[in-house]
This record gives sequence, structure tokens and C-alpha cells, in this order.
Amino acid sequence: MILDGKKVANELKENLFKRIDSLKKNKIFPSLSIVLVGNNPASQMYSSFLTKTVKKYGLDVKVHEYSENILENELVLEIKKLNEDKNIDGILIMMPLPKHISEEKIIDTILPEKDIDGLTTVNIGSIVKNKDCLCPCTPKAVMTILESYKIDIEGKDVVVLGRSAVVGKTLALMLLNKNATVTVCHSKTRNLKDKTLNADILISAIGKPHYVKEDMVKKDAIVIDVGINKLNGKTVGDVDYEKVEKTARAITPVPSGVGSVTTTVVVDTLVSVVEKKFLHKKG
Ligand code: NAP
Repeated sequence: MILDGKKVANELKENLFKRIDSLKKNKIFPSLSIVLVGNNPASQMYSSFLTKTVKKYGLDVKVHEYSENILENELVLEIKKLNEDKNIDGILIMMPLPKHISEEKIIDTILPEKDIDGLTTVNIGSIVKNKDCLCPCTPKAVMTILESYKIDIEGKDVVVLGRSAVVGKTLALMLLNKNATVTVCHSKTRNLKDKTLNADILISAIGKPHYVKEDMVKKDAIVIDVGINKLNGKTVGDVDYEKVEKTARAITPVPSGVGSVTTTVVVDTLVSVVEKKFLHKKG
């Protein structure tokens, strides 16, 4: 079975349009600020793609562009201005930032309640404690796909390849919160194949094209491919899709898999932030 990210995103979309309509009827217009520093082509592309997506929903979005040479303390002040602006509901920082700027420091300057990518220490800490919070959008997209296809997580052996804060580590915590038995693997993991062959659900987020081969996957496993890589000019995942597809019970393709859900999750998170504020105001 193919786990179709576009189909999952479309299901989310229908519901999102209804929620946005109801906010607009109450004269509430969600607004996202994207912070783009320097000229990183991947960040520029992602930022313009996100802008188009958010606009398609009829929401406000503004890209705040800064020079590659902006100082760390200057950028901190800019983020603080966005925090204080009552007309801005969510903030997203395009990564990577230039080397002279601490990403940690910039992320933790964002107000946790405006942190759409859920990467502030407060939000990550809340995931650890299994408290309601803003979660990173890519792990949330993976959880949304599993939920949409009614794939049972509880008690399952789940192996996550990759331990970045933005994907692997937070995804592992979110799976643990749903009672999976989680193994996290990384570049120093020994006997990787022994681990992956034990996975009922195998999730790869390492950024290596076609790294996961069919002999690493248990028969009838669920395979989720988060990787986005270039191979011979084509966009491919971490998983050798054509071969693994024959072993797996279900698999996400690349493209049209996790990535297709992630941008919709960004909009969903923004709308949730605004709904929460509205409900709070109404008391
Ligand atoms: P990252 O920060 O480079 O992290 C990669 C992780 O993979 C690290 O933890 C690294 O281990 C581990 N790793 C590398 N080689 C490995 C190997 N041979 N065996 C086991 N683990 C290995 O990357 P990221 O930001 O998490 O992104 C991962 C992939 O997901 C990329 O392809 C990226 O483009 C994609 N991505 C997709 C979406 C989406 O929406 N679909 C969103 C974000 C990212 P160490 O910690 O030991 O170095």
C-alpha cells in the first residue's frame, strides 16, 4: 500500500478551509511571519513555496528578509519585534542561519506560543513531558500520516533513523508518547541492520539517497521516508523505494509523501494557535 501524502494533505485541507472560514466570520485573520536571513537557495525556495501555500488559504504571510551579515544581537531584536507585534500569530525561521549566528539563541528568542515549528526549548520540553504544545511540523506530519491510515502505534517496535531536533529526536518522543517502543539510530549506531530488521514501523530521516535497502526492512513493515535528497537530478528519499516497496506492507513515496503533508501542517498549526487565542478571549 502506498501511504499517499497528497491524499492526507487534502483531507487536512478540507477541514482547514472550514476552520479558517469560521475565524474570518469572526473577523480574525491569521498571520504568519517568515524570517529569511542571507541567500541560501534552499531556504529561499522553501520560503517562497510556504508563502504561496499560506496565501492559497487566504491567510496573511510576510517574509522578513535580512542580510547575511546581520549581527546576532540585531536579529534577536528583530525577532523580539515580531514577538511584540499583536498582528503576528506565528513565526518561522528558515534554517540554516549564517555560521556567526547561534540557531539555538535565535530559536529561543521566539515566544513559545508563536513558535510554529515547535523548536523552542519550552515546546520541546513540553513534548518530553507529554503536555499540549506546538510540535515540530515534520514529525507532526509523520504522526498525521500514521493516524490518517489508522496505523496502530501502541506497543509497536518503531525504529527512527536520525536524531536531529527538527525531525528524528522529537519524532521519537512523540511516538513514545503514543506508547510505541522506540529505538533511535544515528551515525554512530553499530549493527544498524539488526535494529532496522526488528522494526514494525521504520522511519528514516537521515538525508542519504536510497540508503535503506530491502534487506534492512522486515517483511510487512510500515516504512515512512522523511528524507528529501537529490540523486541524478531527481528528488528521492532515504529509502530505495522500488525495491523496499516489495517487502513493506505500506510505504510513503518521495515526492508526494511526508513533504506534502508538512506544509499543510504548518498552516494547521498557525490556525490552531489563532483558534486557541480566540477561545481564550471568549473565556
Ligand atoms: P540532519 O540534521 O542532517 O540529521 C541527520 C541525522 O541522520 C543525524 O542524526 C545523523 O546522525 C543521522 N545519520 C546520518 N547518516 C546516518 C547513517 N548512515 N545511519 C544512521 N543515521 C545516520 O538532517 P535533518 O534535518 O534531520 O533531515 C533529515 C532528512 O529529512 C533530510 O533529507 C531532509 O531534507 C529531510 N527533511 C524532510 C522534511 C519533510 O518535510 N519531508 C523536513 C525536514 C527535513 P548524527 O546525529 O550521529 O550525525
